[in-house]
Amino acid sequence: METTPTLTRRGLLGIGATAIPVLTGLRFGIIGDPYAADRPTGSQPHGSGYYRFSIGSMIATVISDGCGNVPFWPIFAANQPASTTEAFLKENRLGQAPQLPNNLLVVDIATDRVLVDTGFGDVLRPTSGQFPWMLQNLERAGIPAESITMVIITHIHLDHVAGIVTKSGEHVFPKGATRKRILGQVAAERSLVMGYHFPFPGLGYEEIAGPAYRWNSVPWTW
Ligand SMILES: [Zn+2]
Repeated sequence: METTPTLTRRGLLGIGATAIPVLTGLRFGIIGDPYAADRPTGSQPHGSGYYRFSIGSMIATVISDGCGNVPFWPIFAANQPASTTEAFLKENRLGQAPQLPNNLLVVDIATDRVLVDTGFGDVLRPTSGQFPWMLQNLERAGIPAESITMVIITHIHLDHVAGIVTKSGEHVFPKGATRKRILGQVAAERSLVMGYHFPFPGLGYEEIAGPAYRWNSVPWTW
């Protein structure tokens, strides 16, 4: 995944600053630089980098592998002209290269501790984005790599599979049996979904909205 924006993010701020949204009857302008809170390159992620929740009786933990900024057009809107994309990004207060996290999932079931996807591993280090943080955040979450007993890879892209081995080719999860699985279509179901690249922790529901789908994030639960 290459992360060089075609336009600078600073160049976009002039557009964003002219938006005057209305909230509870009060008009207000966007103040300052929406990217001012970007972390400096190479620093650690905010907070603990993991998010724990339950799926019925199972305990699940979203593990952040970090994030990078990816040009929205044409990667995510190849069938749209750039002008349409710009209006969409502006409406949603996104820059030309929105932040794209890698959210990994650990689920503790009766007989296994399952990890879904393994992030970038060492393949990008140290030059591209804020990757990889999988191992540090597993440790923060109290999940030793040795305790993972099954690894599910959704698809063979570097940002999903590369973290399964070290640079020297050793298995990161020595007890993790590996299974490739293509996740099914979940949009029509009312089931909780985790978006691998959605804003951390990436949990929410999909809803049909005319010809498209709308993503509804679930609130962060403290
Ligand atoms: Zn991906």
